[in-house]
Amino acid sequence: MQGKLIIFSAPSGAGKTTIVQHLLKKVPLLEFSVSACSRPMRKDETQGVDYYFISVDEFKIKITNNDFVEWEEVYKDNFYGTLKSEIERIWKKGHHIIFDMDVVGGLNLKKQFDKNALAIFVMPPSIQHLENRLKMRETETSESIARRLGKAEVELQTAEQFDKIILNDTLEHAFIEAEKVVNEFLL
Ligand code: 5GP
Repeated sequence: MQGKLIIFSAPSGAGKTTIVQHLLKKVPLLEFSVSACSRPMRKDETQGVDYYFISVDEFKIKITNNDFVEWEEVYKDNFYGTLKSEIERIWKKGHHIIFDMDVVGGLNLKKQFDKNALAIFVMPPSIQHLENRLKMRETETSESIARRLGKAEVELQTAEQFDKIILNDTLEHAFIEAEKVVNEFLL
């Protein structure tokens, strides 16, 4: 069976991962697409759960083998991508897929899957808010935070290209809105 795709995109620190995790608990038949990625694993992450962590070389071999439905070098030497095998794995179980990815990857997937995909942009209240969230994570270096904020300015300008925009002013509001649009789409 071909299920549907729910894509959550946003600048880093906008809260999309929290919203995706909430939906996974609330919406039946949704399963998270685990991306492959070449950045180092953070201390709170698990191999095969948050990402399939692989080396830059392994990642490049998979690109050559055409194993990805989309991939990107999101930051220098930090490759991220969705494996075709991951989509097949989830659809085979009769589940719908939820994605957490940057805006370029999100729009790329939307273009490929068109009406079968719902692309949602999570809008942070401000850039300042993003900076605060990234600092609170305590997993990013100051260089990484600056890089992510620089990218965020560009990413905010793509919001209008998504099917829906959810403002993450309070998590409570964002959760309600996200549940509503996702349930409607999956009906
Ligand atoms: P992080 O390093 O914070 O986990 O992720 C960095 C960025 O890469 C985030 O915006 C995240 O959503 C995005 N990302 C994660 N997986 C994928 C993927 O498979 N493809 C693309 N294009 N971006 C991804």
